[in-house]
Amino acid sequence: MISRPTELNLLRNQLTEFLRSRHLRKTPERYAILDKAVYLSAHFEVDKLYNALEEEGYHVSRATVYNTLELLCEAGILNRHIFATNQARYELARGSHLHLICRKCGKIREIDDPSLTSRLLTEEYPGFTPEYSSSSVYGLCDDCASSS
Ligand SMILES: [Zn+2]
Ligand SMILES: [Zn+2]
Repeated sequence: MISRPTELNLLRNQLTEFLRSRHLRKTPERYAILDKAVYLSAHFEVDKLYNALEEEGYHVSRATVYNTLELLCEAGILNRHIFATNQARYELARGSHLHLICRKCGKIREIDDPSLTSRLLTEEYPGFTPEYSSSSVYGLCDDCASSS
């Protein structure tokens, strides 16, 4: 999880640059949603971020949250994943990694497998430029395996 203020500042700057290049307004909501996304870190759903803002008394519409998350994906700040067991989840874009997903409890574990992910990204695909890879392996976590 990224918590150092300098990294948050870098991401804020990245968002500012992106909004400027697209001639979009620098609304406080967009920055509040970015801050919360950084705080929540890995694999959160739209609702989780929406609820976290609500709990703080920060009111934005669900549509604004959703649209901003999509914007952050376009800006290269977040990646969106759609895992077979869940609705769309977002995480900070920070290198490609493997997801081990328990099909019973939905727990997601991240594994760094640089040789696999770099192979996926350096592979030549005619007429296509890879940006990131999302590899998911489904199965049972130890807890669920031992309770079944
Ligand atoms: Zn499990
Ligand atoms: Zn991940």
